[in-house]
Amino acid sequence: MTAQIIDGKGIALKVREGLMPRVEALKAKGKTPGLTVVLVGENPASQIYVRNKERAAVKLGFKSEIIRMEETATQQELMDVVLRLNADETVDGILVQLPLPKHLDEQAVLAAINPNKDVDGFHAMNAGRLMNGEKGFVACTPKGVMRLLEETGVELSGKNAVVVGRSNIVGKPMALLLLQKNCTVTIAHSRTQNLAEVTRNADILVVAVGKPCFITGDMIKPGAVVMDVGINRVDGKVCGDVDYDSAVQVASHITPVPGGVGAMTIAMLMENALEAAEQHAAE
Ligand code: NDP
Repeated sequence: MTAQIIDGKGIALKVREGLMPRVEALKAKGKTPGLTVVLVGENPASQIYVRNKERAAVKLGFKSEIIRMEETATQQELMDVVLRLNADETVDGILVQLPLPKHLDEQAVLAAINPNKDVDGFHAMNAGRLMNGEKGFVACTPKGVMRLLEETGVELSGKNAVVVGRSNIVGKPMALLLLQKNCTVTIAHSRTQNLAEVTRNADILVVAVGKPCFITGDMIKPGAVVMDVGINRVDGKVCGDVDYDSAVQVASHITPVPGGVGAMTIAMLMENALEAAEQHAAE
């Protein structure tokens, strides 16, 4: 079997095009969606992500701003920026690019963002809403994975889903979203024993580990849907957490890296920012 490739790039483009009429409708009412990204320091991967987010926002006609702060910025300086953005009515979405330099308290910064502007969905209020099944901003990457799964047309209810990775920004929200769709969910992590046995039980396998080619074809159940969240750079080339060449022989559907989940993440960020702007316009 050779897997069907899930075209994240194409699907993301369709999603972004679908947002256009909503942006126009808001603008006709005199409201331009505003997204501000705060970047602290010089992390090369973060620089690329932030640039791509800005490009997508500009293409959609958002008011887009990047606030760049020195690597040496203090906690207070960063908090002051967040509080100023909270109070700025032209800013609908605030995103503080992670990871922050080690001396800064990430949780305190995320907690300071107004939950109604938290388009990354990382604030405890939005994480809690997701857990309770209430409406709120859902973290962009897991939200994007769900949208890609929907596009495959594969029935999720009753399926065994395995999420490898338990981070607050990918693994945990991912597991909750799959649970909402009635999957039987297992979360694997660095202390999981017999990982291959666990992953081979997955009808839906989501991998967010941060280790290149970590999940190989022999760890995948024939016919499984494989969603590779990983973004790794090896010898200047980008690859995922799944060993694509062996996995593609076993899976029924698979996301490529690049051109899979990553492309959707930005589309979901745009959707969240637009939703924030629509809510603010309605208030
Ligand atoms: P984290 O480093 O926060 O989490 C990694 C997770 O993998 C942890 O839960 C860790 O377990 C688990 N893990 C590590 N080693 C093993 C192992 N040997 N076996 C099983 N589990 C293991 O990473 P993120 O969740 O932030 O990101 C994961 C990947 O996704 C990265 O490659 C990142 O670049 C990418 N990413 C991609 C995005 C996109 O838009 N496509 C967005 C965000 C991230 P433990 O908790 O026990 O330490």
